[in-house]
Amino acid sequence: MHKRVAILGSTGSIGRSALEVVAALRDEIRIVGLAARQEWRLLAEQARRFNVEYVAIADERHRDNLRSQCPEQTHMLAGAGGLVELIERCEPRFVLAAVVGAAGLPATLAAVERGIDVGLANKESLVVAGAVLMPLVQRSGAALIPVDSEHSAIFQALQAGRREDVRRIHLTASGGPFREWPRERLAEVTLGDALNHPTWSMGPKVTIDSATMMNKALEIVEAHWLFGLSAEQINVLIHPESIVHSMVEFCDGSLIAQLGTPDMRTPIQYALTYPRRVPGIAEPLDWTTPRVLHFEPPDLGRFGALRLGYEAARRGGVSGAVLNAANEAAVERFRAGAIPFARIVEVTEQVFERHVPIPQPTLEELLARDAWARQEVERCIAR
Ligand code: MG
Repeated sequence: MHKRVAILGSTGSIGRSALEVVAALRDEIRIVGLAARQEWRLLAEQARRFNVEYVAIADERHRDNLRSQCPEQTHMLAGAGGLVELIERCEPRFVLAAVVGAAGLPATLAAVERGIDVGLANKESLVVAGAVLMPLVQRSGAALIPVDSEHSAIFQALQAGRREDVRRIHLTASGGPFREWPRERLAEVTLGDALNHPTWSMGPKVTIDSATMMNKALEIVEAHWLFGLSAEQINVLIHPESIVHSMVEFCDGSLIAQLGTPDMRTPIQYALTYPRRVPGIAEPLDWTTPRVLHFEPPDLGRFGALRLGYEAARRGGVSGAVLNAANEAAVERFRAGAIPFARIVEVTEQVFERHVPIPQPTLEELLARDAWARQEVERCIAR
């Protein structure tokens, strides 16, 4: 029996890696649905290659182009509601949620609501809407399996002990490309510098977030919701080699870590085959040459984003939504050349400091705060 899988965001970095994994696991997995925002050429090519039942394209302008290139028997959905409709129609057993940014939220919620297991590569769903998503997970019985490498590592390490025996977790961070740059040089960072990550190959948004350490800040919030941990139970460690993907510390002081090459195909495959493990296409670590691993505490003065991550985890409610939206808007303005690199976190912080917390928000309140934060970023930059 093949596992019916839908991939939302199939043309992005995670989606493409997931299809490489699936191509090697064709005996177990059948791709029944694929969705993308606008890259219709690649989406059509994927639909042909995997002979999928349903495709969805969020940007309606590409509907006809996509239709002309898709196999005749493939059903096509288009527009903002297309991703949710895809989940309703193609009846997957597992959804890989890999849409970048807050745009992936409605489809993630739709899958969880139906009790469908979700592999969560879209950390924004939890960062923005953890307050709504987690109670829904509990009610529907859907499994939420993290694909983010750090959270996959924590998820795996947690299986070594009881939840009540967890003292804290250690999220590792490479420190990004500017870890050793003098602070005054950060003002001169170009878009090209920020897109050049030392160890991981990822999409542009998450690569810029890694350079500011906002990615780790969002991961603190993600871990808070996913594992029910307080901000005080989440420690960030700089680990430039990106080999230890994260660790769980139990109450007796024992640390359980997950290690491997920095290759997203490993956590993607684990989510796809969980609780089983199967031989994969990622290269195992090479232990035939000497290897040194470094760990150091982060400099919170240098990486202001981390402080915001802890604060958002502490406040809960709408605070993650505000942090994420302000950062998304600021990163967009940086990519458009409107603000320098160092302003990304400054602007995000200014907006975050001004928001009024709501402890138990509804989805509407979360989305309203998201919109508010984006407008505030524009105001902040215009000033
Ligand atoms: Mg990560």
